[in-house]
Amino acid sequence: MTNAQSTARRARLEALDKAHLWHPFTQMKEWNNGHPLVIERGEGCYLFDVDGNRYLDGISSLWVTTHGHRTPELDAAVREQLDRVAHSTLLGLANVPAIELAARLAAVAPGDLNKVFYSDSGSTAVEIALKIAFQYWQQRSDAKPCKTKFVHVQDSYHGDTIGAVSVGGIDLFHELYRPMLFEAHRVPAPHCYRCPLGLTRPDCAMACADEVEKVLREHNEDIAALVMEPVMMGAAGMLAHPEGYLKRVRELCTKYDVLLICDEVATGFGRTGRMFACELEDVVPDILCVAKGLTGGYLPLAATITNDEVYSAFLAEFDAFRTFFHGHTYTGNPLACAAALANLDLFERNDTLAHVQNVAAHLSERLKEIGALAHVGSIRQRGLMVGVELVRDRTTHESWPAGLKMGYRVTDRCRDFGLILRPLGGVIVMMPPLSITTEQIDFMIDTLAQVIVEVTENVS
Ligand SMILES: *Cc1c(COP(=O)(O)O)cnc(C)c1O
Repeated sequence: MTNAQSTARRARLEALDKAHLWHPFTQMKEWNNGHPLVIERGEGCYLFDVDGNRYLDGISSLWVTTHGHRTPELDAAVREQLDRVAHSTLLGLANVPAIELAARLAAVAPGDLNKVFYSDSGSTAVEIALKIAFQYWQQRSDAKPCKTKFVHVQDSYHGDTIGAVSVGGIDLFHELYRPMLFEAHRVPAPHCYRCPLGLTRPDCAMACADEVEKVLREHNEDIAALVMEPVMMGAAGMLAHPEGYLKRVRELCTKYDVLLICDEVATGFGRTGRMFACELEDVVPDILCVAKGLTGGYLPLAATITNDEVYSAFLAEFDAFRTFFHGHTYTGNPLACAAALANLDLFERNDTLAHVQNVAAHLSERLKEIGALAHVGSIRQRGLMVGVELVRDRTTHESWPAGLKMGYRVTDRCRDFGLILRPLGGVIVMMPPLSITTEQIDFMIDTLAQVIVEVTENVS
């Protein structure tokens, strides 16, 4: 393509994008005044735009890529499945990759989790967990039909469908829809940098967990389940829980006879250095939700995984109608399941978890330099999940005014140097593919450090 042809092509794509494409979580008025970065292809940890410019994918294409883009083994697995069948339904039929993957997930999931219900996104995985938990209490032999409510954590994010929003705790995303939602009990965010109880570690003795106990003690007879993102709350800005919080919540759920739903849509598949974040505190939930990294970032697939106890409450004669009346058209899509199987194979073959632990240790070292910058208030890291919180004042933790869009200023400028990041408010998120090298981490840190200094010293 000549330069003129390539300029004309980019202009055409930009015009069509602005005319027809409504982007998620995006103020389209602003978008339409800018110039979209249009991605054409990927390779390893890099993405390339239509002009051939290369960018390090510092957010794993929104937290999904594990072994990199165009991983030969994943490409081959999807192609081989394409030569057999692209889709066949799980309603009334089974298919080979869906069976094989269910068995593999049962083997890698924590503890006794061994029953796999597929869907297509993190949101649906959570919807399914909520409905399973609700129906479980209605139907188990010692039924407790009053247990219909849910507990969720302030600042949590579980997806954008109505049920997932009902148990969502980010008021900016969720409050507007309140009249459409069901009510849930909310417990304070276990977030030490901005403790909602106004306490500090370790003097607080994890009072946030005592708040969970208060709600469960008072209301357990009405509560079906507590839903939480274990260890790290992603979408709220990478809020890291204090160590031991998850374990304590597990103990409380057991004590008060409430199911624990762990949403590992973001943390699952190696992001924290373990296959699942629950393993960091030896916790086994009653229901586990996974999605993002499941197919290595190739295709939309999710799973809600539970144990025999929950599953068995749905077993009965046909006309008892205890069936789980739920299913999405593309449930258990063979192409997506084939990609997921190849993804899990590579975790073993490449010893991906050991690699993540190595590069995450290097990342921790390098993050100290970022932490020393004048306008960095807090750095929260678990494995390859990182939040860098920008503040106006490190002493008071005062944030920059939202209108200054400091997060976007930083990530927009990073693009000029070939690095794709995305902020959550004033928090810069880094979540690179698990296959990232130490050299690529150095590039990411060097670029980010330089850009934070440049942007925060030139505030207007
Ligand atoms: C992204 C995310 C979801 C929603 O997943 P979608 O595939 O976008 O529906 C749910 N929970 C957590 C923790 C997430 O990070």
